[in-house]
Amino acid sequence: MAYVDLHTHSTASDGSLPPREVVRLAKARGLKAIALTDHDTIDGLAEAVAAGQECGVEVVPGVEISARYPGGTMHILGYFLEYDNELLARRLAVLQQARKDRNPRIIAKLNELGIPLRIEEVERISGGGQIGRPHIARALFEAGYVGSLQEAFDIYLGNQGQAYVEKFRFPPEEAIGMIRAAKGVPVLAHPFTLGLNDPASLRALLRELVNLGLAGLEVYYPEHSPELEALYLALARELNLLITGGSDFHGDNKPEVELGRIPCQSKLTYEMVEALKAWRRREYGGSGASDQ
Ligand code: AMP
Ligand code: FE
Ligand code: FE
Ligand code: ZN
Repeated sequence: MAYVDLHTHSTASDGSLPPREVVRLAKARGLKAIALTDHDTIDGLAEAVAAGQECGVEVVPGVEISARYPGGTMHILGYFLEYDNELLARRLAVLQQARKDRNPRIIAKLNELGIPLRIEEVERISGGGQIGRPHIARALFEAGYVGSLQEAFDIYLGNQGQAYVEKFRFPPEEAIGMIRAAKGVPVLAHPFTLGLNDPASLRALLRELVNLGLAGLEVYYPEHSPELEALYLALARELNLLITGGSDFHGDNKPEVELGRIPCQSKLTYEMVEALKAWRRREYGGSGASDQ
């Protein structure tokens, strides 16, 4: 059986390994295909695709876009994007600027709380890609202000944390729309973060997203309990959504997740990639540049 991972991060966003190293690790762990899905950026894709060609791993060009969803976290994955698409690059640039505006405000809040962390320290940790909260968490941990990365989120950086700062997000229809404009396949990531686990409300939201063009649901994910996984699988089947899954690998920035070795790895088979490709062909026609 050939295994895949459709949700990974590199130093282009908040992973700790450069795109090339994520792909090489995937090869070493025996994966046939991986999707690189950095937060709000496609900057790592060219390097990842090239590395995939060199070492013999199929790299699905992807992205993970944070969408507006009051009361919870909504991330939309996009697969098989045309990553030279101008409109996509321009829309993502808006989100990248929103991040740049937010980071100094988080640092200022930490400083007000008596933690003299400097943005330069966070930049050093980020390795040159865009800065996300996991980099700030690592900076807090390395300087000894918290005992773990999770504690940094629990006390300071999480949505309820003392130094939390909201950032601009597109509404779901725009996040889905920009993925579709680049001929990508839009998939709702880790549905548990919506905070909607009664089936009726989740079904209603998924129906709305399907009307906006959503194509799939990330059913398999390390933090989904067997009960949630069963619920998501049933809803995906009911609503005729593609079924995907991934580890959300972030390297050392999420040390509990190991590429190719997550509990649900046996569910993540190459058929998922074939189903994404088939959907893309049906929806947009032709064979498509990234559809090898
Ligand atoms: P950002 O993109 O800067 O908003 O950071 C989002 C990332 O921070 C997510 O992808 C997670 O990796 C991490 N994250 C967000 N909230 C939490 C939390 N409460 N606990 C642990 N990690 C979190
Ligand atoms: Fe992340
Ligand atoms: Fe996410
Ligand atoms: Zn992710």
